[in-house]
Amino acid sequence: RADTAMYQAKRSGRNTLYFYDPAMQAVLEARLQMETDLRLALEEKQFCLYYQPQVDNEGNVVGAEALIRWMCPTKGLIPPGDFIPLAEEAGLIVPIGNWVLNAACRKLKAWENSALTSRLQLAVNVSARQFHQDDFVRQVLDAIATNNVRRGSLKLELTESLILDNVDSAVEKMNALGDAGVRFSMDDFGTGYSSLSYLTQLPLHQLKIDQSFVHKMLDRSVNAVIVQTIIGMANNLEIEVIAEGVETMEQFRFLKDLGCPLFQGYHFGKPVPEKEFEKALSSSPRATS
Ligand code: C2E
Ligand code: MG
Ligand code: MG
Ligand code: MG
Repeated sequence: RADTAMYQAKRSGRNTLYFYDPAMQAVLEARLQMETDLRLALEEKQFCLYYQPQVDNEGNVVGAEALIRWMCPTKGLIPPGDFIPLAEEAGLIVPIGNWVLNAACRKLKAWENSALTSRLQLAVNVSARQFHQDDFVRQVLDAIATNNVRRGSLKLELTESLILDNVDSAVEKMNALGDAGVRFSMDDFGTGYSSLSYLTQLPLHQLKIDQSFVHKMLDRSVNAVIVQTIIGMANNLEIEVIAEGVETMEQFRFLKDLGCPLFQGYHFGKPVPEKEFEKALSSSPRATS
């Protein structure tokens, strides 16, 4: 059949095999269009960072996570889940990731110069493809140096799978950046396949408990056990631990009782544009009472 005839498309140096089918063709065209739009978005500075507070067990804001948004002139505000995977495949995550790093470091510098925000830490998400670039360490060091960022204030969020791709190389890069005062958090912790033995070998400062466990921990006791185990383990290993996706006071109380010291989630604040984040901080330094 003509519509299932195979053809080979050569794009960006890779050979990709496609089956011809009108529906698939439409999907493919939409992807190519989005790739073009993403390149334009970079040139025209259509990306921005939203900030979500991270709080201690009294609700004091101690930091934030920077989360990218795409302000598309035609489609409006697009969340990262809708474009980061394609940006990763197309390699565009490298320039986008570098933009994020520089924007975050600029913001950190601005905060450090302000009495209200001078002690805040800022966490930045890093994609596997970005991390595995040969010049990743240099890119981060450049962003830090250009903006004269204080030691200990920039935190990079890595995932388990990213580290497991090549543990030796990951550790080498983490150590090089750790020497420059960069901190590391393991994002979505508990969803991957990490063995406890290698956790102790990684230069990690923080484990971030995945929100799926937090959401279900009060309904399904197995999730409560997982959360309790992660908190206990982190406390014993002297690694900081933060719970992600805390949406209710009940979840906050439960986590606090388990000894969790740090929290992030809608209960304390959703990700918001920088102006709004800074305004919320100045009107109430405590995110909860
Ligand atoms: P993540 O790093 O695990 O970020 C947490 C996500 O959960 C964010 O979604 C955040 O808005 C959302 N969230 C926070 N608190 C709550 C809560 O209480 N309840 C619920 N239901 N959700 C909550 P967002 O901003 O859509 O980001 C999604 C993912 O996109 C991030 O997951 C991260 O993997 C990726 N991402 C975001 N910004 C960047 C970036 O600058 N670079 C890269 N490479 N990836 C990014
Ligand atoms: Mg994250
Ligand atoms: Mg996460
Ligand atoms: Mg996630």
